[in-house]
Amino acid sequence: MTPDAILALYAWHVGSCFRCAQSSLFVTYLGSVTTPSGDEYKLDACGACILNMESERQRWASRKGREYAPGSLGS
Ligand SMILES: [Zn+2]
Repeated sequence: MTPDAILALYAWHVGSCFRCAQSSLFVTYLGSVTTPSGDEYKLDACGACILNMESERQRWASRKGREYAPGSLGS
């Protein structure tokens, strides 16, 4: 699967990436964390970080002999 095809599996909006800390770029929502005091922080990631994380998932699946299905980060 090409990088563009993997990125097309996600919905994008302008924001900041939790992983590389770049801002004002297209990101996709992956989830949120809530602190003990109740503050919620949304976790969005940029395209480069999504491709890095998908690559890590693909290598992990390959090592474990499992099937790799892109597009499910954060779900
Ligand atoms: Zn990033």
